[in-house]
Amino acid sequence: MNGQLVVQKFGGSSLAEAGRIRHVAGRIARARATGANLVVVVSAMGDTTDELLSLAAAITDDPNPRELDMLLATGEHQSATLVSMALHAQGVNAISLTGAQAGITTDASHGRARIANVEPRRVRAEIEQGNVVIVAGFQGQRLGSDAGGQPGETTTLGRGGSDTTAVALAAALGADRCQIFTDVRGIYTADPRLVEDARQLSVIGYEEMLELAQQGAQVMQVRAVELGWINGVEIEVLSSFEDAPGTLIREDPLVEQRNKVRGLAHDRNVAKVTLLAVPDRPGIARSVFAPLADAGINVDMIVQNVGHDGATDLSFTVPRAELPRAEKVLAPVVAEMGARGLSTDPTVAKVSIIGAGLHNAPGYAARMFGTLADAGVNIEMISTSEVRITCVIEEASLKAALDALHGAFELERPDPVDTEAALPRAG
Ligand code: ADP
Ligand code: ASP
Ligand code: MG
Repeated sequence: MNGQLVVQKFGGSSLAEAGRIRHVAGRIARARATGANLVVVVSAMGDTTDELLSLAAAITDDPNPRELDMLLATGEHQSATLVSMALHAQGVNAISLTGAQAGITTDASHGRARIANVEPRRVRAEIEQGNVVIVAGFQGQRLGSDAGGQPGETTTLGRGGSDTTAVALAAALGADRCQIFTDVRGIYTADPRLVEDARQLSVIGYEEMLELAQQGAQVMQVRAVELGWINGVEIEVLSSFEDAPGTLIREDPLVEQRNKVRGLAHDRNVAKVTLLAVPDRPGIARSVFAPLADAGINVDMIVQNVGHDGATDLSFTVPRAELPRAEKVLAPVVAEMGARGLSTDPTVAKVSIIGAGLHNAPGYAARMFGTLADAGVNIEMISTSEVRITCVIEEASLKAALDALHGAFELERPDPVDTEAALPRAG
């Protein structure tokens, strides 16, 4: 790796306590010893981000978004400094930088900011000085004074945002490699913590990875995959605990020859909302969804049932954490339109089958529904795209549904087109 520029990212579980930080520093030192120049992006230690969020929630149920970002960013500041110190202790020159110091600027959406630009002048200068550069992930500083705020304010990139910091830096620096070290060996056909038969993939295309991420596989942040795709950054996902080949996320030329279903994703962060006996007339959908949009609540699947006697039931899903807010927003709407009422169910989950070839292969939907029926799983809602079919089911049936689908689509069997040549280089 002599002279190569490598961006590495270590997730929270890989940095959960001092021993693990020393272990990560050891890995970084070994890579450095091969002559590689390294930029290392770190997440907050263990559950720090969750703990900071609950601290804020214990103070107020409506924290100021600017203050919340200032608070959350400290998690990554901590781990960056500690990794840097651990490297010093091992005789490796290193320096930690905040997202702002690393030149990451974003838009003004606190809590879910999008990276607007990366100007890694300081990062390059530190590399020139012979330093391993440790960058606090998940954060940047807002670029302009749009939306009335001050430029230079600290922003955060949304949960899992350190993945995006890493890919954005790799793109801006023209890095030779971008490695995401995590607590599993790579990308699997389903969440390996839930599905024992899940099989590791050696390669997955950007499109399929994006869909997996969007449908709940939290192993990569959605925006990180998008940025990788747009900028042609090959992303290696691999274990920070063992030396094992990982998974390459990149353009997949073999996509047409593969199993049509490439993987399963699931999402528990869902709640179902049903408006009962809504009057069936023009403008009703707008009066329901416009206030939700104004409140910044993301509505996902929408099903409007067949109307009877001039009224119809309207169901949709929202992120589970947004349910209380959605109820608050909808209460006056329901009263005003004269609907019979509002019912909600926070104990649902989404399960998806994903594969780039699904759209021109008939029969997959029927097979999915048949498999769920045979497993005794009731389907509450369905939605499809070119590369996925998603069902909303009861959360209690999630494991049974995933196991049944994994078996029915033979995902535990290696794909015949995968060859040794497709395996990533060892980390
Ligand atoms: P990190 O702290 O390293 O960012 P995350 O918890 O964000 O790690 O992501 C890793 C987790 O993603 C794994 O522990 C695994 O449970 C989960 N996961 C979900 N779907 C998949 C999948 N298809 N392949 C691999 N991991 C997955
Ligand atoms: N610490 C942040 C989170 O927990 C960002 C990250 O881990 O990528 O979401
Ligand atoms: Mg993560």
